[in-house]
Amino acid sequence: MNNKRLLSTLICMWFVAFNGKSETPAQSPFAIAIHGGAGTINRASMSAEKEQLYRAKLEQAVKAGHALLAQGASSMDAVIAAVQIMEQSELFNAGKGAVYTYEGEHELDASIMWGKDRQAGAVAGVKTIKSPIALARAVMEQSDHVMLSGKGAEDFADTLGLEKVENQYFDTPARFEQLQDARKTLKLDKTAQADPLRLDYKFGTVGAVAVDKDGNLAAATSTGGMTAKRWGRIGDSPVIGSGTFADNRSCAVSATGHGEYFIRYNVAADICARVAYQNISAEEAANEVIHQVLKPAGGTGGVIVIDSKGNISQPFNTQGMYRASIDTAGQLEVGIYGTQK
Ligand code: ASP
Repeated sequence: MNNKRLLSTLICMWFVAFNGKSETPAQSPFAIAIHGGAGTINRASMSAEKEQLYRAKLEQAVKAGHALLAQGASSMDAVIAAVQIMEQSELFNAGKGAVYTYEGEHELDASIMWGKDRQAGAVAGVKTIKSPIALARAVMEQSDHVMLSGKGAEDFADTLGLEKVENQYFDTPARFEQLQDARKTLKLDKTAQADPLRLDYKFGTVGAVAVDKDGNLAAATSTGGMTAKRWGRIGDSPVIGSGTFADNRSCAVSATGHGEYFIRYNVAADICARVAYQNISAEEAANEVIHQVLKPAGGTGGVIVIDSKGNISQPFNTQGMYRASIDTAGQLEVGIYGTQK
């Protein structure tokens, strides 16, 4: 082989090798975790049938998100799919089955964040949007804004033709009973805001975090808020940094719990900041914030967290947190109580 031919063969080999690589880019491990709220989940008051219903719905939701990831869909699509299944279920405090406000209505909050470029969308206090998480995504992708509220958010949904329902669509007898109980026990003074009795009436917020084959993180959260809330109260769930956060360089978080504390302690963003700046694992950071920061302050609840390698953690400082995950090995776990997976 003369020098010229050798050179062209080498160039050819280099070209094939280079192109081969770019045609099949390395795929990241993918994984997903979801929650269906944290609180006083008492084994004694949970029948075997009810527990089975929760477990089956959590499994259905996490598997739906995971199936999309396996097909190569984005983590954004996966978290939306999982959250929408729970929004449509009466078991959870999001969409159908949302808690009642003091006045007997439903006001829904939701948010979503994309870890690749920190785009985010949120809606607060919407009353007629069938899937608040879908509207949060539309705010992110189809508006110049991050958060829309109340009637304005609903008008925006109209411009896109998103599905709307009567507020009564979200009604359920079980949540109505909780409202009656809450009205009886609720004392409208400052001390009553911290009354643990109130906290038992509100768990059931839903959320999902995922990493896809491209290594992109996403987080989503949807809720009806707290039973008997008034005066247009907004919790942490639609607040980016408090109830939802995602950044590929650290982690993705969806929170559930007593929203006022999650806002004050900027919980979701604090966990990711610890990962980014202290060089600790997402699991360590989440445990620190939930157990060492939030708990001493009186804040109850939990988070689901995932990092770009697909490591999942789900710490909570309540008796239980409805949760499920499918890790990078494809292993499914469904949990409700503190001691049981
Ligand atoms: N964090 C929600 C809120 O405060 C409630 C919950 O997660 O249960 O609105």
